[in-house]
Amino acid sequence: MNRDLVDEFAQRLREARAELYRTVAQTDDELATLESHQPGAPGEDVATALVTAVLSRLEGQEKHALDEIDAAQARLAAGTFGVCEGCGTPIPLTRLRAMPTARSCVPCQLERER
Ligand SMILES: [Zn+2]
Repeated sequence: MNRDLVDEFAQRLREARAELYRTVAQTDDELATLESHQPGAPGEDVATALVTAVLSRLEGQEKHALDEIDAAQARLAAGTFGVCEGCGTPIPLTRLRAMPTARSCVPCQLERER
């Protein structure tokens, strides 16, 4: 995946994360703290505690969605983003653009759901 695409999907994932944050934050302060919080950034105990507390309100689908965004961002950082976890081939861009957190190509996804 080339640099432009990595940037594109980094942006899409950030937007997906921001969307979830807007759903879960109850005050502007909470939202500002969430948005300034970068996963994995060291040395910000107070912010981390607040972020953890706010994010603990997420449940079900939303919690799963955030976990998937975390995982996709980790794959992007590791250079494995966009590669199917089932068969190891590149996931088509149209699928990734529709669902940036996709872990597998459509055939593998269907196979897994069967
Ligand atoms: Zn596959």
